[in-house]
Amino acid sequence: MKEINVTQTFLPPIKEYIELLSKAWINNWLTNRGDLVLELEKKIKNKLQLEKNLIVTTNGTIPLQMAVKLFGNNKEIITTPFSYVATTSSIVWENCKPVFVDIDPLHLTIDENKIEAAITENTSAILATHVFGNPCDVEKIEKIAKKHNIKVIYDAAHCFGVVYKGKSVFNFGDVSTCSFHATKIFHTGEGGFIISNKDEYADKLFKYHNFGHDGPENFKEIGINGKMSELQAAMGLSILPYIDMIFKERKKIVDYYEENLSSSFLTKILIRKGTIWNYSYYPIIFETENDLLRVVYKLNQKKIFPRRYFNPSLNTLSYLQKKVVMPISEDISRRIICLPLYVGLEEKDLEKIIAIINFELC
Ligand SMILES: *Cc1c(COP(=O)(O)O)cnc(C)c1O
Repeated sequence: MKEINVTQTFLPPIKEYIELLSKAWINNWLTNRGDLVLELEKKIKNKLQLEKNLIVTTNGTIPLQMAVKLFGNNKEIITTPFSYVATTSSIVWENCKPVFVDIDPLHLTIDENKIEAAITENTSAILATHVFGNPCDVEKIEKIAKKHNIKVIYDAAHCFGVVYKGKSVFNFGDVSTCSFHATKIFHTGEGGFIISNKDEYADKLFKYHNFGHDGPENFKEIGINGKMSELQAAMGLSILPYIDMIFKERKKIVDYYEENLSSSFLTKILIRKGTIWNYSYYPIIFETENDLLRVVYKLNQKKIFPRRYFNPSLNTLSYLQKKVVMPISEDISRRIICLPLYVGLEEKDLEKIIAIINFELC
């Protein structure tokens, strides 16, 4: 029996990848913002309708760390407990203090109505995740940030292709980050980008991601190495021509789940009004953790492996100094899984998954 995992990395025809790689051979140039990286940046900006200041990076975590470095000032950062661990670990890694605000149980994004109560004179920024590609309430968050003079960072790791109110979701906030990890909807094996509408921030971030270089022998800022290589960019360039097909195929699978999963015992994520979504994940929420465990056990027996995205709730991480309780996030984290969703997932496998879930929950 073949394994069905929560996702399967999309790979382009190898000939097309090699053709792009051969440009790196011709140039004899593998990194330091070569032709392929520049071409990838241009094509992504074009595809996502982003005008400027997009910097591709070696993964999706370094950009989070750079954004926290830029705005954190060793202070408190308000954040969501319902995300991948990188959202919280980046804050702690940069010696800032995560201050958790519970999530909205319908959209699963940070509850914008609870943010203000968490702001203190030590708050420097909000780091929120557009979780599963579902935008936060960006208007309300912007208002709060302006009022209290703090910055907004969006972990938009899941958001390639997401449009909110007619604009790419990457336009919102002071800085947004994306991941091109092999499990994400668009990927470069490992990779990502960081973007800011403000030139001043973008200039700093650009230097951060390249050791602080300002010319070959000048170092203006502190920096690290966050550069994407030509080998990664070649992968991205060979996948980009397929991205519309990828969105379309994933939509078909999500529609199939929606039509066939008997939903009275399951809750689905509510996509925020005004969003053109990218079908990056298919999360379902059970009534109890026992239901979840029973269904996962049955699926695993048939070599079907959904993932518990995201569990545990990040406020419970062992290395956090201050323990807080986030009732909604902790509760949902225990009851949510993401079902298999990828190009090439066959209808007969979908039927198998749906039959098991429907049978167990009736
Ligand atoms: C994948 C992911 C990251 C980290 O991205 P990498 O490219 O794996 O470093 C950060 N935040 C979220 C929400 C993610 O899902």
